[in-house]
Amino acid sequence: MSMKIREAVKTLRPYQWEPSTDELSKKLGLRKEQVLRFDTNTMPSPPKELLSKLAELLPGLGVNDYPDTSYTQLREGLAKYLGRRVEQLTVTTGADEALDIVAKTFIDPGTEALASKPTYSFYSTIVEVMGGRLVLAPRREDFSEDVDALLEACSRQTRLVFICSPNNPTGNLTDRSDIMKVLEESGCPLVVDESYAEFCGRTVVDLVDAYENLIVIRTFSKAFSLAGARVGYMVAHEKTVRLLNKVRPPNSLSVISLALAGLALENLELLRRNVQWVTEERERLIKALQVIPGLQVYPSQANFILIRFKTPPAPEAYRRLLQQGIVPRSFDEASGLGDCLRFCVRTPEENQALINALERLVTERL
Ligand code: PMP
Repeated sequence: MSMKIREAVKTLRPYQWEPSTDELSKKLGLRKEQVLRFDTNTMPSPPKELLSKLAELLPGLGVNDYPDTSYTQLREGLAKYLGRRVEQLTVTTGADEALDIVAKTFIDPGTEALASKPTYSFYSTIVEVMGGRLVLAPRREDFSEDVDALLEACSRQTRLVFICSPNNPTGNLTDRSDIMKVLEESGCPLVVDESYAEFCGRTVVDLVDAYENLIVIRTFSKAFSLAGARVGYMVAHEKTVRLLNKVRPPNSLSVISLALAGLALENLELLRRNVQWVTEERERLIKALQVIPGLQVYPSQANFILIRFKTPPAPEAYRRLLQQGIVPRSFDEASGLGDCLRFCVRTPEENQALINALERLVTERL
């Protein structure tokens, strides 16, 4: 049977999923506990206190019914957490669904979106699914956002601009003044992806009152330790939220995930503890890795670290770390980061295992 598929899907370059821990343990001949996921940018363990509280709520949860499709209760919690109004919020299945909704709202076939390279690779997937093209402007040598290059790449075809801050995979923030410049001069909707914002405490959510073209995307997947629950949200001007809600599917979140996210907002001390230990561990890791010859370690405002490898080269380091169960995130040459690997912060013991493994790799070569 020959199925007629959309042109955009024929040429689509699919998003590269990370392999599962099960697959990796089989491939490497290691037990599942020996596979250390330094590649997923998640937290190393589930939030046990929240899960116990959820267990108490479970018997009363109305899973026989659909959730309240406007997710009002969670939006009320978020409004309080962010100091925003409920009307400025809409809830999504992770930040990824938020990105998808934005692309569906603004990208017509043949139009363009804009981001600066390197950045989160899912942006190109969602734009290409809609028949658009993601144009990438260069970042500066130190990976800082070059807003002038970004604005220069803006054309009449540009429908959407993405700024990831802190940026995955480079770990750095975009200045608030640069974000305001893009909001004022691009004439386009601007998505600021703040998936990692809790790790640095800096945000532009307060700018949504002044700028109708700002859409801030956030998630419970990172600092809240809830990637498996799949809860994200968008913060924007009331008018923009109404527009995005036209495209949003009505019932994509589960009642259970909504309850868990609600509990996370009622127990913010857990978030503060997560952020505290992750940022301390991140700085300890950076300090320990910086002194290893042959590695260039970039500063980070998030829960991961980007490292440029001179000796051994990144593909060799990747292979040898993987054999020991240490799973880094690698990048293709087209991203400009073929000589880099990215590692997320894990437990102190696991981070020490990473430091030791990298020291061994380099000293064996000297
Ligand atoms: N944006 C960025 C920059 C990310 O790194 C990720 C996670 N890989 C996401 C969005 C998607 O996060 P979520 O789990 O909320 O869909």
